[in-house]
Amino acid sequence: MGSFNVAKFGGTSVANFEAMSRCAAIIESNPNTKLVVSSACSGVTNLLVELANGVQDQTHRSEILTKLAEIHNAVLDQLEDSTQAAAEVYTILDTVTSLAEAASIQASRKLTDHLVACGELMSTHLLTQLMRERGIAATRFDIREVLRTDSNFGKAEPELDSIRQLAEEKLIPLCQESVVITQGFIGSDAEGNTTTLGRGGSDYSAALIAEAVEASGLEIWTDVPGIYTTDPRIAPKASPIPEISFSEASEMANFGAKILHPSTLVPALRHDIPVFVGSSKEPEKGGTWIRHQVESSPLFRALALRCNQTMVTLRSAKMFHAYGFLARVFEILAKHKVSVDLITTSEISVSLTLDQTDTSGGAPQLPEAARIELEELCSVDVEHNLCLVALIGNNMSESKGYAKQVFGTLEDFNLRMICYGASPHNLCFLVHESVSKQAIQKLHTELFEG
Ligand code: ADP
Ligand code: ASP
Ligand code: MG
Repeated sequence: MGSFNVAKFGGTSVANFEAMSRCAAIIESNPNTKLVVSSACSGVTNLLVELANGVQDQTHRSEILTKLAEIHNAVLDQLEDSTQAAAEVYTILDTVTSLAEAASIQASRKLTDHLVACGELMSTHLLTQLMRERGIAATRFDIREVLRTDSNFGKAEPELDSIRQLAEEKLIPLCQESVVITQGFIGSDAEGNTTTLGRGGSDYSAALIAEAVEASGLEIWTDVPGIYTTDPRIAPKASPIPEISFSEASEMANFGAKILHPSTLVPALRHDIPVFVGSSKEPEKGGTWIRHQVESSPLFRALALRCNQTMVTLRSAKMFHAYGFLARVFEILAKHKVSVDLITTSEISVSLTLDQTDTSGGAPQLPEAARIELEELCSVDVEHNLCLVALIGNNMSESKGYAKQVFGTLEDFNLRMICYGASPHNLCFLVHESVSKQAIQKLHTELFEG
């Protein structure tokens, strides 16, 4: 089994030739790094998602295709010998063109996955050639041969046993011979259709692959030097966290901290693989280590923000002192495959938020058929433009006195669906999108900048 390191580079880390060269230098600096997982070049997945949603206007479609070609050509132009990589990239761009045309006639989740996967398929050709030109024996590997998933296009579930077996067979032997460059985010189902793990899924891919090859470490290289007390783009005084526990970091990822895909730490935790998060632009600044055992477990660790929340409120006077109402509600939701995230209840109402279920990035929708069935039982109210704010920490359900500080700081905000006390690791609530960043900034100043 491999006792080597897996390194993942995100979109901004492979945005252009200079950025890719920095990745190559990081890979070279650690001879133990044998497996590299790369995202699509920055901005590419968004362009592909736009095409996949169906662009009717042919001029606009051509503009997007031109932008895609420009991003990849800019790297090809700086390679010493781009012949092979260019041929590969242009073939993929041809596929993108025909899939985009098909999507403009009829979009589908299956087609979307095939289309959006092209970003990673192209970036890995470029990175492999760039590495070779620096004198590193590098092999590009199509991860769809190993990363087996179900057929839930847009948010496919990995099939762990197959992944492990295929990795042993196809990937580990390759890593003994050279540095393997492969794609994040994408996989394939049993029929060979391309699937994706959901937006930001390259982190998750890297962790799944690290688990399958029993890696000694997983490095996530991104555009910030580690995990901060909150998104530094929202609160510029946010500070880096040198060391954080798996449970705290998982909680952050689950509550929307974009730095890690929510499922990333699950495989790492299962196999106790230490995870490092750092900046490929400034590797010298160090980063964050995610470990089982950490030296400090502060009451407040970080703040996370997740927008595009859909809140459904169900009200019925019949719920008062009645039994079976909630069971019936969840039966209907389960029947329509509606995944529920948060839930709060009062005597006659229940509010819940819906999970994000696909690549679209938009707010999740309550299916019309589910709404119709629910309306036979109670009134149904759906609200959008909400964001979830989460305060993450330790022993929060056993600690006293801090709720006053938190809610006092936010007394001018309309807080909805407050969940407090259920988890030792978080306190969370919804606010309107228009004030969500302000809520994070105020809380950060009060709780983390003292
Ligand atoms: P990549 O393309 O490398 O996967 P992402 O854009 O997905 O990078 O994630 C990195 C971004 O995550 C940062 O630029 C930052 O804005 C955001 N972010 C959100 N929460 C945090 C946090 N707590 N610490 C650091 N970065 C965060
Ligand atoms: N390229 C994909 C995205 O932008 C996956 C990733 O970068 O993690 O969502
Ligand atoms: Mg990401």
